Amino acid sequence: KKTITRLPSWLKTPIPNNNNYKKIKNDLRGLNLHTVCEEARCPNISDCWGGSDKSAATATIMLMGDTCTRGCRFCSVKTSKAPPPLDPHEPENTAEALRRWGLGYVVLTSVDRDDLVDGGARHFAETIRLIKQKAPAMLVEALTGDYAGDLEMVKLVAQSGLDVYAHNIETVEELTPFVRDRRAKFRQSLDVLRAAKEARPSLITKTSIMLGLGETEQQLWHALKELRKNDVDVVTFGQYMRPTKRHMAVEAYITPDQFEMWRQRALDMGFLYCASGPLVRSSYKAGEAFIENVLK
Ligand code: SF4
Ligand code: SF4
Repeated sequence: KKTITRLPSWLKTPIPNNNNYKKIKNDLRGLNLHTVCEEARCPNISDCWGGSDKSAATATIMLMGDTCTRGCRFCSVKTSKAPPPLDPHEPENTAEALRRWGLGYVVLTSVDRDDLVDGGARHFAETIRLIKQKAPAMLVEALTGDYAGDLEMVKLVAQSGLDVYAHNIETVEELTPFVRDRRAKFRQSLDVLRAAKEARPSLITKTSIMLGLGETEQQLWHALKELRKNDVDVVTFGQYMRPTKRHMAVEAYITPDQFEMWRQRALDMGFLYCASGPLVRSSYKAGEAFIENVLK
């Protein structure tokens, strides 16, 4: 099988604006927050943190450590059956740091913690509750795992005061067993998204799909229809990028025009909004999109 080695021009990312980086570093100094934006050297950092309007600025924070109990074939996060215990001060410290930082929109995400009885749902919910207490104007999105299908845990997080409940299906149904950890299931992920909506119908629910894993158009249509059937409001599409040679290979580089076509299709299907592009990640400019499409 042919492996694609050359990167198309639209994926060659400019070096992030240095002034912006400095400002970010300054803002973060002493706050002891682990932003995915910085740690993953995300190419979108200028778009998400930049701009003059801090009330729309978005950052992604990683909770519950850096070690996951699962091993998805596209993901470069460390894995272990027994990661270190949770830091009981993390909810309070995170909320306090975010209050001081004062950005408009925060995405909280975490590794999957199948080793914990509640999958870390209480820790997650407590963090959200404290953020909303200390910084009531901050918009909060939680990007959670599937809690191994325990919908009571989904409900607990959905009712913690957040604005957007995100859970990523990552790929089409047919490819799920080859892409995600074997404990993740396409149907289970749909159930998570539906349960969040049912727990609080005013919540925006959101999911993300990586393209370029070998999915067909028909399979993608099917996935989108299933998402709409489960009342999912927002979808994002980005290019799958192989983190290392040990991870799944890229099957196709999707062109910017194709991304735009899928964005249009998603809107035509009734999704409230859709971010779609080669470098888009599920949190890409999430604050701006929420303010433009939900608050206005
Ligand atoms: Fe951070 Fe997500 Fe934006 Fe990247 S896309 S800079 S991780 S908020
Ligand atoms: Fe990575 Fe999430 Fe899969 Fe864990 S569950 S390996 S963090 S994608």
